[in-house]
Amino acid sequence: MIPYGRQNISREDVEAVVEVLRSDFLTQGPTVPAFERAVAEKVGARFGIAVNSATSALHVGCLALGLGPGDSLWTSANTFVASANCARYCGASVDFVDIDARTANMSSQVLADKLHHARRTGARLPKVVVPVHFGGQPTEQEAIWELSREYGFRVLEDASHSIGASRHDEPVGSCRWSDITVVSFHPVKVMTTGEGGMALCNDDRLAAMMQLLRTHGVTRDPQFMESVPAGPWYYEQIELGFNYRMTDIQAALGLSQLLRLPDFVATRNRLARRYGALLAGLPVKPLEVAAGNRSAFHLYVIRLPTPDSARRRTIVEGLRDAGIGVNLHYMPVYLQPYYRRMGFAPGLCPEAEAYAEAAMTIPLFVGLTDDQQDVVVSALRTQLTSVP
Ligand SMILES: *Cc1c(COP(=O)(O)O)cnc(C)c1O
Repeated sequence: MIPYGRQNISREDVEAVVEVLRSDFLTQGPTVPAFERAVAEKVGARFGIAVNSATSALHVGCLALGLGPGDSLWTSANTFVASANCARYCGASVDFVDIDARTANMSSQVLADKLHHARRTGARLPKVVVPVHFGGQPTEQEAIWELSREYGFRVLEDASHSIGASRHDEPVGSCRWSDITVVSFHPVKVMTTGEGGMALCNDDRLAAMMQLLRTHGVTRDPQFMESVPAGPWYYEQIELGFNYRMTDIQAALGLSQLLRLPDFVATRNRLARRYGALLAGLPVKPLEVAAGNRSAFHLYVIRLPTPDSARRRTIVEGLRDAGIGVNLHYMPVYLQPYYRRMGFAPGLCPEAEAYAEAAMTIPLFVGLTDDQQDVVVSALRTQLTSVP
């Protein structure tokens, strides 16, 4: 099976991990802070807070932004469930914004209309908006940031797909147009730590709060304590936090992978361009990359000319039988049973629903060979011509 995505591990990556295994610290040692500094520097953010997953980063990010019961978080309909679940962890409600059919990213126009409508009708405005850089392509962050000034919400970018991408030469993660940006290091993503994630920000107080929350709400820094330290062993728990720490083993892999991030993104872009050329003439529509964007191409998504979930299913099954690991990213989150139980129903985001009946993700990863790519395209051609 040619998978839709997979990690790329070098000998150097293995050696970096082994070095930590032989060292004094498997966790809470020097490698996590070194990884945080390296990522923050790479993307141009002041702070990087490493955690054990992007899901955890979304959770502590939402808490640091003050999201709680009675508040609302808005995110894209076309995303992984974690972008919405983080609101539920905080006791907040969720609402979904439809996509721009060209990119499958949250539409900033739909967001503007929905905000305007909410203000006009007295409906609840969001406290936090989570734009998702779908497939590795940055969202229209400057427009979303402008809306956040007008409507008073905070912006938490879910950049789980897009470390290494940029918009108008601004690297994703710099938080130029957001409060916090979250990245994922899951093995299918652009670079990996096995499991892992990071929250990036430029604000001292947000950074300090997320650092606290990832490790039980416990501090050893006297400036945050209520009492004078009673001795060198002394710590205080000042918030209700979690154990969301990344290990030094993971951070060592991350530091090593980070060195290859520019190559990873260049390779993914090369393979995406090659797909674009090979697919020209076939009755499928790749997603567009908007002017000014450089995608990290976490995913390569194509769409059938018209939404047709039965035909798409037959084609996907045919491709899988031919050994091609095709996937769907994503069914609209609000159509998941958990969200339907809250009253969400089809019709909320028509573009995302049409997209989800036409889209498929075909294999794209750093080790994908030109030959494998040709096999994918030829199997796809067979399916497209044989399935009416
Ligand atoms: C993968 C992913 C996450 C969660 O990342 P983990 O590191 O696996 O927790 C969140 N949001 C999106 C859009 C993702 O694709």
